[in-house]
Amino acid sequence: MTTDITYLSDLQSGDEAIITKVLGHGAFRKRITEMGFVKGEKVRVIKNAPLQDPVEYEIMGYNVSLRRSEARLVEVVSVEEAAGLAEVKFEGTIDEETLKVSALKKGKTIRVALVGNPNCGKTTLFNYASGSHERVGNYSGVTVDAKEAVMKKDDYTFKIYDLPGTYSITEYSPEELYVRTHITESIPDIVVNVVDASNLKRNLFLTTQLIDMNIKVVIALNMYDELEKKNVKFDYDSLGQMIGIPVIPTVASRGKGIDELFAKLIDVYEDRDTSVRHIHINYGSLIEDALKEIQDEIWKTPEITDKLSSRYVAVKLLETDKTTLRQLEKYANYETIKGKAKKAILKLEKEYGEKSETIITDAKYGFINGALKETLTEPRKDKQAVKRELDDILTHKFWGFPIFLFLMWLMFQATFTLGSYPMEWIDAGVKLLHDWLQTSMSEGPLRDLLVDGIIGGVGGVIVFLPNILILFFFISLMEDTGYMARASFIMDKLMHKIGLHGKSFIPLVMGFGCNVPAIMATRTLDNKKDRILTMIITPFMSCSARLPVYVLLISAIFPSRQGLVLFSIYVIGIVLAILTALVMKRVAFAKKEVPFVMELPPYRIPTLKNTSIHMWHKGQQYLRKMGTVILVASILIWVLGYFPRNVEYSKDYDTQIVSAQTNPQLSEMQKENLVSHLTVEQEAERQEKSYIGQLGHAIEPVISPLGYDWKMGVSIISGLAAKEIVVSTMGILYQADLQADENSGTLKANLHKQTHLTGKMKGQKVFTPLVTYGFMLFILIYFPCVAVIAAIKKEANWGWAIFTMVYTTAIAWIVAFATFQLGSLLV
Ligand code: GDP
Ligand code: MG
Repeated sequence: MTTDITYLSDLQSGDEAIITKVLGHGAFRKRITEMGFVKGEKVRVIKNAPLQDPVEYEIMGYNVSLRRSEARLVEVVSVEEAAGLAEVKFEGTIDEETLKVSALKKGKTIRVALVGNPNCGKTTLFNYASGSHERVGNYSGVTVDAKEAVMKKDDYTFKIYDLPGTYSITEYSPEELYVRTHITESIPDIVVNVVDASNLKRNLFLTTQLIDMNIKVVIALNMYDELEKKNVKFDYDSLGQMIGIPVIPTVASRGKGIDELFAKLIDVYEDRDTSVRHIHINYGSLIEDALKEIQDEIWKTPEITDKLSSRYVAVKLLETDKTTLRQLEKYANYETIKGKAKKAILKLEKEYGEKSETIITDAKYGFINGALKETLTEPRKDKQAVKRELDDILTHKFWGFPIFLFLMWLMFQATFTLGSYPMEWIDAGVKLLHDWLQTSMSEGPLRDLLVDGIIGGVGGVIVFLPNILILFFFISLMEDTGYMARASFIMDKLMHKIGLHGKSFIPLVMGFGCNVPAIMATRTLDNKKDRILTMIITPFMSCSARLPVYVLLISAIFPSRQGLVLFSIYVIGIVLAILTALVMKRVAFAKKEVPFVMELPPYRIPTLKNTSIHMWHKGQQYLRKMGTVILVASILIWVLGYFPRNVEYSKDYDTQIVSAQTNPQLSEMQKENLVSHLTVEQEAERQEKSYIGQLGHAIEPVISPLGYDWKMGVSIISGLAAKEIVVSTMGILYQADLQADENSGTLKANLHKQTHLTGKMKGQKVFTPLVTYGFMLFILIYFPCVAVIAAIKKEANWGWAIFTMVYTTAIAWIVAFATFQLGSLLV
């Protein structure tokens, strides 16, 4: 049997051949097999002129054209050769089936490359499998080029290549380049990654690079005897499941596990092994964004992605790999790709203050650490020698949780206490501006707009900037130090219980800052169902825009126990998220679980500068929102509350005021009180009859079972645009009618004094603790905000966006109703 390989591109016009193998890369393979280029299929060349591209073929009765570079990736046997291989010759004619069968025999040649660190036992394995006698040695550099051997197993012929040992696939040594070229140019069917089991961490580094390359890999976990001797427990099956690569333990020097290894190779070659799965190593959001940018450009040249994974090429470019750049030189968009990579590298290096190559290496080790943390248990060293590592504590089975909860509590506590000082300063500033405009401007709609509309609205929200910056500072700090990854790690098991895994945890925590980036961060999840489930429950993570509402109401109504009340709101949000996930898991997302590696990136001491920059990025968004959405909404709410001016009052206030002022029986004090009381009443009635009052009254039937007055209803509606607007609306509505009261203080004090002016509850306080608490829950749960819905629509689809709107609002109402009604029974 001849072992020369014929490629589809070698055939001449009119030639017929049978396909034996499709090489090349994931996306290319998928496309070409969809076109009909599969093993055993007959293909005829219609036109193949020497310098012409593309080439035309006929397959399955269709004419298709392939680029020459594509045809170079399809292995065939000519019909003549297949006939020659056929064992049964029947009067000179051979039927199609026999041809196919004999052609496929040739397709049963599996090319296997042995790749691994020096001294991991590649040559030993090679010798044992092939019965050859290459030198083995306990020093590196023994194998300088590839040795090739042939062996047979079952129906299959293996061509095995023993490649030089490398620690990594870069370009620093001839060995590395040799291995790399072999994989990308000779294209073995399967790479056997020989891993020294007694030195997993270092050996798996090469594995992470093979993962990037998106090729078929089987791990031979060699030196397994050494591992057993050390009394180490290693759950290699789990590891294999997590990284999508089968792992077979071997002891090459004694020939153990070799049969199993080759049996596995056949399964993987024939695509029968279900544990084979291409995974992405998560490099963290900054690198992932950079990769995506570069990949988008790479995709424009399909010749690159036929042979190489775009992700691998992009990673290599970020590592400033010259060989890869040289490979791309011949393509039209080379300069653009190079430019994008350069820009991305500059940005990354500025952000991390380290070489981009180091950043990627760190991320790879983060992946390995995470994978081993879950699968490898080393025996306890003797007590004195135990050096406790930070990870042993932070991801400890018992201590991990209290530490996490403590840090969360600390975060909220700091948000409150540290935030209250600058908050008071800004508050005082706003009040000063308010009073100054009030006295220096002449009376009229413009003054009212500025003072009540804009300062009342925007000013009411801007005071919370410090709280929000502090919250973002803590979140950035947790991300920058690497603690967030540890938190995800300990949360992983718990998250599994609700049908998610630890990776969903980071988007969820980010949700405390702002739900919009959190929903975008779900992109790091590989599975669509996980993404959608995470998206749906993210709005229950109370974002910083809701914080002003709580801070306002808590400080007004719950002056003692502020931290505790706030914490409880957040906890209720989390509980709802969990319940929702549990229900959804049952109803819509029943699925088979795939294990993942939870990366444990190295700890970094964050620089104050970087963390502040991250915090500021987020704070900027807040300020921008202030100048746009909140400003416009404030003006709108004010306008709706200001007009119409000519309302019909239920009584003649003007006459009553005059008669009060001229009533000789009253003291000056009494006069003043009566007048101010009448003025307040008049303004309240006017506002109630304004457009916004009409709107509020229209929705009253829906909200009065919750114990709310119409102004709260209006605030809720205004919060659809952004939740901070709830506060600005309250600022406008509750400030206005107390304007004339000289004792009127801050909005806080006004809320405290507020009574129902109409209806069954007339005269009773509006903001009882019960109503306030229910209201905060409503704000927490209902319709997140327009931006979040837009994000969900973008990341999922309209269906889920609409579902989120309806679902959250319904739950909000039910929870608020239950709180108020049940609470009223108890109190
Ligand atoms: P290579 O550099 O990867 O080709 O490694 P070699 O095949 O030259 O092997 C290096 C050394 O490891 C040799 O001394 C082998 O005898 C030894 N070795 C190979 N496989 C095993 C194994 O499974 N267990 C043990 N204990 N030693 C092995
Ligand atoms: Mg060797």
